[in-house]
Amino acid sequence: MDHLKAKIRHVPDFPKPGILFYDITTLLSDARGFRDTVDALASPYMGEDIDVVVGIESRGFILGAAVAATLGCGFVPIRKPGKLPAKTVKATYALEYGTDSLEIHDDAVRKGERVLLVDDVLATGGTAEAAVSLVKGLGADLRAAAFLIELNFLNGRSRLPNDAVYSVLQY
Ligand code: AMP
Repeated sequence: MDHLKAKIRHVPDFPKPGILFYDITTLLSDARGFRDTVDALASPYMGEDIDVVVGIESRGFILGAAVAATLGCGFVPIRKPGKLPAKTVKATYALEYGTDSLEIHDDAVRKGERVLLVDDVLATGGTAEAAVSLVKGLGADLRAAAFLIELNFLNGRSRLPNDAVYSVLQY
């Protein structure tokens, strides 16, 4: 997977001092890089009868939609508050300073549906933890959470069902 790592741009001090931002736009714009990324995220779940891929705004939409098309299943977005037009449920989670929230349409996944959650980066795990609570709150069966990048030193994995977490690249 080193060829994928080589295509990710590292931007220091974005969006604020001290953060090293993993910019995947340089990976997505590369035909081979994009294809191999989507295949690496999807391949563990081929034949797993995933019903729906749930992607987290916004880079989780790009990767999640492509993974869903590859697996031949549906795609559902989890969005920032106020973006989804129909009835939603909300989960609020803590940030370094303050809180943030995510929403999903309350009819977007059904009881017992087999769900694969997808996002670009697993950092502290707060975002994914909130997304998992939304999916489970609707009664769906969270089969796995797949990330392109896992920042091991932040141990976000500890906030998720551990055997469910999969990442393609680790730092
Ligand atoms: P967290 O809730 O801390 O796990 O943060 C995960 C979310 O923030 C993901 O949706 C990522 O897109 C974004 N994110 C966090 N840290 C980084 C980073 N170093 N580079 C790029 N995106 C990041």
